[in-house]
Amino acid sequence: MNIKTFKGEKFPLELHKVRVVQKLNFPPLKRRVKSLQEAGYNMFLLKNDDIFLDMLTDSGVNAMSDNQIAAMNQADDSYAGSATYFRLEKVVLEFFNKKYFLPTHQGRACEHILAKVFVKPGNAVPMNYHFTTTKAHITEVGGVVEQFFLNEALISDSKNPFKGNMDLSLLEDYLDKHAANVPFVRMEAGTNLIGGQPWSLDNYEKVSKICRDHHILLVLDASLLSDNLYFIKTREEAYKDASIKEILTKISDLSDIIYFSARKLSFSRGGGIVTSNLAAYEAMRPLVPLYEGFLTYGGMSIREMEAMAVGLNETYDFDIISQGPIFIKYMVDELDKLGVPVVKPAGGLGCHLDVAKFIPHVNHHQYPAEALGSALYLVGGIRGMERGTLSEQRDSLGVEPESEVELLRLALPRRVFTMSQIKYAIDRIYWLYQHRELIGGLEWVMEPEVLRFFYGTLRPIGGWENKLIKVLKKDLGQEE
Ligand SMILES: *Cc1c(COP(=O)(O)O)cnc(C)c1O
Repeated sequence: MNIKTFKGEKFPLELHKVRVVQKLNFPPLKRRVKSLQEAGYNMFLLKNDDIFLDMLTDSGVNAMSDNQIAAMNQADDSYAGSATYFRLEKVVLEFFNKKYFLPTHQGRACEHILAKVFVKPGNAVPMNYHFTTTKAHITEVGGVVEQFFLNEALISDSKNPFKGNMDLSLLEDYLDKHAANVPFVRMEAGTNLIGGQPWSLDNYEKVSKICRDHHILLVLDASLLSDNLYFIKTREEAYKDASIKEILTKISDLSDIIYFSARKLSFSRGGGIVTSNLAAYEAMRPLVPLYEGFLTYGGMSIREMEAMAVGLNETYDFDIISQGPIFIKYMVDELDKLGVPVVKPAGGLGCHLDVAKFIPHVNHHQYPAEALGSALYLVGGIRGMERGTLSEQRDSLGVEPESEVELLRLALPRRVFTMSQIKYAIDRIYWLYQHRELIGGLEWVMEPEVLRFFYGTLRPIGGWENKLIKVLKKDLGQEE
């Protein structure tokens, strides 16, 4: 919850207490310089021991509750028919108000199954915005992604509370012409790549109606649904008095198929697909034992399944689903007050720096978001994730497309960081913004052909990092 103090300060309060802790290292500057070099200026290649605040992702790193941990110890291990599975199935079907559940090892496995079953070569899948793994699975089977997002979706300085909405007229026009070539429409809750931005239930209702009018299935990617539920309740007038359960049921009834990554939704690990459409269920079912594991575990460990069941039930609790968004809003608002370009309004999953405005002097092909990520690691031991041109793939002629947005995502895994850690991050980002002219671009040392951002290595162009380190030592009296 948010609190206003007697002094007039406003900030979010943690409505949980910490009962298990993990020691963190604060690597000295010298060590950070060395580990960044060893990692080839690639955030994915840094070692956790060399990181103070890991804001790379919210995937699989949210803090579990005491009840989740307790449930993990009661898990019933069995290849087929474990009691754990049936406990989970009951919770999942109740949660989504659907009839059939297919368990998978994580979110992208659901996308694999959906693409394999429904998408034929040449098909197009309309969506509000793509996610990396979604697009990869659709293109892998010969399909294409069509995005019908609002113009404002890509504008960081916005007041639109629902930047994740689908552009309804674009969708309708497209389906009027091409419905026969569309296996399903996909909506993503808490739209990840544009900054965890939600859609409104009003928009979702209209998308659903357009799909039904055209006899096309509506598939919901519910991985970031807990944030989207929070935003519907707090930003959409019509639902301010509705319970989370009521909002959920409404969303479920508008969806034909729902899938999710439990690494985010339910603060556990794993994933699954639900539907009440028997034909769709029967078409997808054979792929679970083929790719995931038997139908009563789908590649998940029983401990993960127990944690997921409890975590889904905890999603009904408004205090629990608020914690992420209110901490993110605090971070976004404070940075905004300091003039630092951030994606607004604050979304779910993390605070996103608008790198194109932060360091406009570094062009797309010198990977500004990764360069800013490297600088932030040097300055604060903080790791973010590049969301820009580095994550793009060269075309068959070797031409590198420029990303629509250059963002540095600073994920706030739910219930993991304390207020003083967030304040520290804000301060280091502010320092960096004041010295932004010192940050330069990066160039490849080793560029892999596929998924280059995961394990390619780079170096700073012209050695700009040396000057940055020198000024940092002078300003902040850093060690050594
Ligand atoms: C993380 C994510 C996925 C993929 O889930 P994994 O469990 O990482 O495979 C799919 N869609 C969205 C929106 C996500 O955020």
